[in-house]
Amino acid sequence: MSGVRVRFAPSPTGELHIGGARTALFNYLFARASGGTFILRIDDTDLERSRPEFTTALMEALHWLGLEWDEGPFFQAQNLDEYNREAARLLEEKKAYHCYCTPEELAAGREEARKQGKPYRYPGTCRNLSQEEERAFLAEGRSPVIRLITPDEGETAVDDMIRGWVVFDNSTLDDFIIVKSNGLPTYNFASVVDDARMRITHVIRAEEHLSNTPRQIICARALGYELPLYAHVPMILAPDRSKLSKRHGATSVEEFRAKGYLPEALLNYLALLGWSPGEEEILDLAAMIERFSLERVHKTAAIYDVAKLTWLNGHYLWEADPVRLTQLALPFFQAEGLIAENPGEEDLQYLQKVIETVRSRVKTLGELAEASTYFYRDQFEYDSKGVQKHFNKEGTAELLRKAAETLEKLPVFDLESTETAYRDLAASLGVSSGRLIHPTRLALSGRTMGPGLFELMVVLGREQAVKRLLAAAAYIETTLN
Ligand code: GLU
Repeated sequence: MSGVRVRFAPSPTGELHIGGARTALFNYLFARASGGTFILRIDDTDLERSRPEFTTALMEALHWLGLEWDEGPFFQAQNLDEYNREAARLLEEKKAYHCYCTPEELAAGREEARKQGKPYRYPGTCRNLSQEEERAFLAEGRSPVIRLITPDEGETAVDDMIRGWVVFDNSTLDDFIIVKSNGLPTYNFASVVDDARMRITHVIRAEEHLSNTPRQIICARALGYELPLYAHVPMILAPDRSKLSKRHGATSVEEFRAKGYLPEALLNYLALLGWSPGEEEILDLAAMIERFSLERVHKTAAIYDVAKLTWLNGHYLWEADPVRLTQLALPFFQAEGLIAENPGEEDLQYLQKVIETVRSRVKTLGELAEASTYFYRDQFEYDSKGVQKHFNKEGTAELLRKAAETLEKLPVFDLESTETAYRDLAASLGVSSGRLIHPTRLALSGRTMGPGLFELMVVLGREQAVKRLLAAAAYIETTLN
């Protein structure tokens, strides 16, 4: 193990967003590439919005993606004593102070700044209160917050591993709150205390936190901590360059999982959001670890492109080990009502065959189940265009009956024998093979397109194939003639 220690620190206030998952992935890759430690911290000090079920779901999503952490989960809400101790130390060292300003007083200040067209900055009203003044406020029943004294002048520079130096004017920062009036630490404060306590060497997080970083640096210095290195990974924007939101479709790992995306596809896609691995874009975790470096992470926003993710998913669906894919696909077939809750060995073997027949034609597990329904149901409607085109021709019922008869007589029922039988039958009847093949496909699947006809037929099995051919012939005779 090297000395590198990184953390992924989600707030358990919702599902794992793809931006969060990408942050987790980059932290994971950085840790693995440098022989370091990847830590999971749950930033749950927002007691109102944090929920244990979100923590469970976050961890489940990370497991599903294969991003295993080495230490944790550590919960900030279980560390309140430590924040209080550190806040007390800052108060004692006169680096922080109690502020008794009421929300109304602060709002009035904000309103005044707005009128003057200036950005609001807390003016430090309570910086130098005397003990008597403090006592008087307490007697009034006011509960104070704790603010950190920040320098009024000068600059705070962030040496960002992705962006280089980013300099902030201290006059734009104010004495920010580190402990709220309910006694809970703010994000900036808890994060700084924990990053130090957990000996984090590199803070790798979303760009939207860059503006928090000067505050965290000032706070860490006030506490006498050694600073970690920072890397802010670029934003993920929608194709129209707006903020990615629900209206752009699925945005959480859970949603992609539910639609039937494979973890390796999602991971691969996330890796490409803001990082250039080089020539090869199809990468598993091991290949990503081998190539990963923060230097190759972009400064500019990444544009989210679901078509690319879907394309990658199709690729991985095709590549996946059939037994594993069968396990992954099973719930989707169950959700469609195609397979029972407790399938037997035979059901699973059949499912595997179905999957191997259909998977090259679909992009997600959801589509896979949808495209496979006719392997499980013989009651389906025939595609109406197909009926016009292939069933409505003179003599089709007769052709289908002949085909059924031929299949029934075959000594073996496999790819080769069925295909040869069809070609021979067409030749002997003096029709093109298409004239037999198209209505057969419609008869067997209700559809005009799908996997290779003879593959489909063999997976269905002789009995089903014959039954469906005869049913189609009867349909044509009773309905169309
Ligand atoms: N809880 C913060 C978030 O989810 C963590 C940010 C950080 O990594 O410091 O955005």
